[in-house]
Amino acid sequence: MKFDDYHINEDIKYNLEKLGFKKPTDIQYKSIPPILRGEDVLAIAQTGTGKTAAFAIPIIHLIHEKKSSKRTDYVKCVVLAPTHELALQITEVFEKIANKTRVKIACIFGGVDQQPQIDTLYKGVDIVIATPGRMFDLQSQGVLDLSKIDILVLDEADHMLDLGFIRDIQDMIHFLPKIRQTLFFSATINENIKKLAYSLVKNAIRIQISPKDPVSRNIQHAVVFIESDDKRFFLERIINEHPESKILIFVRTKVRAERVAKAMERVDIKSLTMHSDKDHEERTKVMNAFKKGTTKILIATDINARGIDIPNVDYVVNYDLPEEPENYVHRVGRTGRGDKKGQAISFCSSEEKPVLKVIETFLHNPIHVIEIDREDRAATIDFAKDNVVKEDLNALLREVEELELKKKKKRKK
Ligand code: AMP
Repeated sequence: MKFDDYHINEDIKYNLEKLGFKKPTDIQYKSIPPILRGEDVLAIAQTGTGKTAAFAIPIIHLIHEKKSSKRTDYVKCVVLAPTHELALQITEVFEKIANKTRVKIACIFGGVDQQPQIDTLYKGVDIVIATPGRMFDLQSQGVLDLSKIDILVLDEADHMLDLGFIRDIQDMIHFLPKIRQTLFFSATINENIKKLAYSLVKNAIRIQISPKDPVSRNIQHAVVFIESDDKRFFLERIINEHPESKILIFVRTKVRAERVAKAMERVDIKSLTMHSDKDHEERTKVMNAFKKGTTKILIATDINARGIDIPNVDYVVNYDLPEEPENYVHRVGRTGRGDKKGQAISFCSSEEKPVLKVIETFLHNPIHVIEIDREDRAATIDFAKDNVVKEDLNALLREVEELELKKKKKRKK
């Protein structure tokens, strides 16, 4: 089945062709027909499966067909997303697919001046893509009217629950029309998510993509046992061996992100960092540089492990293993997106072996182990540019970690 065979607007088909989408991915194949028929959908699908277009294509088609002119009198669809990065990314997909159609789109999120968003809403939009907090602000100020919407989409609902948005979502229901179409997307499923889902959808079509193996088939992933003190020499080696590759590196804390970036700088490897200490403007700048490829190395904490679509990430390196097993799936899912292939490698120290076990249990599968023989290991460390100062740096890293641990303990008390 090709997109050409679907009964959707020709402009949309043209836009999909321009995006290089020839045939639907699994989730698109399963979701587009019921959404076009007006049915509710409850889908369990990870990011990277093409799920954004799975709801964007039919929604844009339905709204375009419903509108007889470009005049926009009310908001017809709200897409809720957990973070502003994801909201922006969804908006980008909607805008590309809706190009030259009658559909108008706006993105609203917190942490920035609300006035430009209010101005856009006053001009009239059909689809609002929003994070829950700002959506509520604007709704309670009377700027955003949710009372007539036809379609509600919850994307990454599991992440929305993790971030504590459950009350917001439950409250929102009171402002929505009872008769509407609801599309509920989540990467994982548990009792809380089920409860929320069934309070929103009616007779939903249930769709589940690759439930047995949460890591996409396009991703080759493996683990290598490396002690903490040696990790940066192996990172240096991976980066130097793949000079053309876009590499996304995940670390446990923001302090470690900065430390690893410094360690790479010492061996003339330029990188950017992304973590919760960066404000909105800095985060957007970093993401744009990495997206465009002006910076090929990004060191990040789990803040942007989820949902974020960065084109052509060749490698994901788990410099530290994630403490939450589902974050393993989100992290490695940054590569091998859509119909592309990707690779992920995790560094696991002796102390991290129990975490690795938890991740493997979550995946229902062991992760392939790459063996490095003793000579290769020694050579990697010996050839690292920076190993003269390694003792100092390792001591420093340990100090920082001990400090963080102490802070954590204090907070717990
Ligand atoms: P998502 O899961 O929505 O974040 O999408 C993941 C990636 O898949 C994005 O880079 C999309 O551009 C790409 N993609 C989505 N649908 C298709 C398709 N039908 N063919 C090829 N690539 C696609």
